[in-house]
Amino acid sequence: MSVNPGASVPDQSGHFGPYGGRFIPETLSAALDQLTAEYGAAQADPAFWGEFEGLLRDFVGRPTSIYRATHLEALWGGPRVYLKREDLAHTGAHKINNSLGQALLTRRMGKQRVIAETGAGQHGVATATACALLGLECRIYMGSEDCRRQALNVQRMRLLGAEVVPVESGSRTLKDAINEAMRDWVTNVESTHYILGSVLGPHPFPQLVRDFQSIIGREARAQLVEREGRLPTALVACVGGGSNSIGLFHAFLGDDSVRMLAVEAGGEGIASGRHAARFQEARVGVLHGTRTYLLADDHGQIRETHSVSAGLDYPAVGPEHAQLHDSGRVEYVYATDQEAITAFQELAAAEGILPALESSHALAHARKLAACLSADDLILVNLSGRGDKDVQVVIDWLAQPQG
Ligand SMILES: *Cc1c(COP(=O)(O)O)cnc(C)c1O
Repeated sequence: MSVNPGASVPDQSGHFGPYGGRFIPETLSAALDQLTAEYGAAQADPAFWGEFEGLLRDFVGRPTSIYRATHLEALWGGPRVYLKREDLAHTGAHKINNSLGQALLTRRMGKQRVIAETGAGQHGVATATACALLGLECRIYMGSEDCRRQALNVQRMRLLGAEVVPVESGSRTLKDAINEAMRDWVTNVESTHYILGSVLGPHPFPQLVRDFQSIIGREARAQLVEREGRLPTALVACVGGGSNSIGLFHAFLGDDSVRMLAVEAGGEGIASGRHAARFQEARVGVLHGTRTYLLADDHGQIRETHSVSAGLDYPAVGPEHAQLHDSGRVEYVYATDQEAITAFQELAAAEGILPALESSHALAHARKLAACLSADDLILVNLSGRGDKDVQVVIDWLAQPQG
C-alpha cells in the first residue's frame, strides 16, 4: 500500500486524518498561532535554513555517517545491514536537530526564555546545549524520579547553564514534567517558547519537529544511493514519541518499494500490561494537546507505562504515526526489555558500538526481520543515540537473577 507523502502534511488545523489538532487552554492559542506563522515565514526564508544547516554541519557534526555493519551481517545471515549513526551527533542522539531548530525559531520570535520537559534527560541536555549556544535562558522540567535515575544528565544541564526543576507530582516522570512545563508556558507565554522534544503536542509541533528531524532520512537516502546505487528493502527505527522514526521515514514515504518498521517498547510483554506499545492496544484519546493512540485504562485514565529505556516510556505517540498506522504505510511492531538488552550486548561486542537502549529496540527487531530476508535485500537501522547513558541500567539488569 502506498500513501502520497503530501497526504501526511497536516491540514490547516493541524490534523493528520482524524488525529492531531489542538486540545489546549485558550491562553495558548495565540502562542501557537504565532509559532505557526513564524515557522511558515522561516520555511520560506533561505537565511533561516542557511543558518540551521550551517550549525548542523559545524556544531552538530552532520551529515552523520551510514555504517555497514558486516559483523552483524555475519551473525544475522541474509541482508546487508547499515546503521544510520545518529549516535555520532553532538550530545549523542538525534534530539539536537530539533532543539537547535526550535532555539533558532525562539530567537526569531523575539523571545529570550526557553522551557522544556525531559524524561531521561536527553532532550533536556540537547535543549540546554542549544540555549547555551544561542544565549537563551533555559529551564528544564524533569520528574524527580527521573532526576534520581539520571543524575549525570541533571549535572550536565546545570553545567550548560540551565535551571533544572524536579517535578514531584504524579509518578514523578515524563508525563508529569510535561504537565508542569505546560503550566509554566500558560503563565509566561509572552516571553517564553516551549521546545517540545518529539512529534507530539498541539499543532504545529508534530509538523515542525518532523521537519527539523527529516534531515536524517534525506541524508540516509542520498548516502545509500551514492554507496549502493539503490534504495533499501526496509527501514527500522524505534518509536517513543516518534521523532527519530518519522525523521528517517519521511524522505522515503513516496518510495513504494521501501518497507518501514517502527518498533515500540514491549516492556515485560503485552500480556503483562507493563509496556509502552500503544498500537498493540489501539485506544484513541487526547493527551498533551493532541488526539492520537494512547494507553489508557477502561475508565479512560492514562496508564502507567513501562520500558527499560526511558526514551520510549511514554503513553502516547505522535499523531502522524497514528495516520501512518491506519493507512498501513508503516508497520508497528514491538521488542521487549529482554530483547533490547540482548541487542545492546550484541552490537557492543560485534561492532564496538554501545547503542542507546531505545535504539536497541530497533536492532532487536531488525534481527528478526533479517531472518526473513535474503542476500539481495538491504536494511537500514536508525541508531538514534549512543548507549553511554544506559550502561548502569544494563549492568543492573544483567546482575538481577534471570528467569
Ligand atoms: C528520546 C529518544 C528516543 C525516543 O524519542 P523519539 O521521539 O521516538 O525519537 C529514541 N532514541 C533516543 C536515543 C532518544 O534519546
